[in-house]
Amino acid sequence: MAPFSLVYHDGYLTPYYTSTVECPERVKAAYAKLKDRFPVIRPEPAELEDLYRVHSRAMVERVKLEGRDTYETALLAVGGAIAASQAAIRGMPAIALLRPPGHHAGPDHYWGYCFFNNIAVAITKLMAKGSVATALVLDLDLHHGDGTENIFAGNQGVKVVNIREKKRTAYLESLEKELESSDEFDLLAISAGFDTYVRDWGGILETDDYLVMGSAIRTAALRLCEGKFFAVLEGGYYLPDLGTNVLAFCDGLAGE
Ligand SMILES: [Zn+2]
Repeated sequence: MAPFSLVYHDGYLTPYYTSTVECPERVKAAYAKLKDRFPVIRPEPAELEDLYRVHSRAMVERVKLEGRDTYETALLAVGGAIAASQAAIRGMPAIALLRPPGHHAGPDHYWGYCFFNNIAVAITKLMAKGSVATALVLDLDLHHGDGTENIFAGNQGVKVVNIREKKRTAYLESLEKELESSDEFDLLAISAGFDTYVRDWGGILETDDYLVMGSAIRTAALRLCEGKFFAVLEGGYYLPDLGTNVLAFCDGLAGE
């Protein structure tokens, strides 16, 4: 398998108007820890036709009204997920370190610091091109990925799994069970949130758990989808340890 890689763009550090906790320092912290570890892919902004596969035109117009910095950074975030998904298809698993996050953005509604659904646009683009027919979305964020779930509701090819347990052992067991019981599919997409961390809002997982989870996901992906997987950053707000946790997860995903 080709080396694990990192999708990143300085545009993700744009201080667009949003909640103060969803700040540029989040991505900065993660990038600082990962940049010398993995090869870096620089993404392009997404095209409108890619957005329209999952979002209404009216919603895209509303995001535009949030301001130019927000809109352009959101387009670049979608482009980051697309770049990571395309790397995955070429046999190079990847994580996109991006903001704004996306899993609360649905077909016609966005909230929770999200504007466009990065991971859903990436998956539907690959489907439209005929690169994949089936996908599993694993949402590891503390919060329910309602936007992703709404987008893929009724789509037979895409299964969306949220790990909802709020206690450490139950959380890890639930993930393990999902991976063990899963059928084969063409692509694994991970909504990687780190607000489950013990010092973050969730108060659930330790740093080492992210390594274990990354490693378990890699093993499952090799078995279930020929190692075609990519991850996209969602939440995670405890700045002192965010980079360390993302790195632990990526070391697991990379098989380090
Ligand atoms: Zn979250």
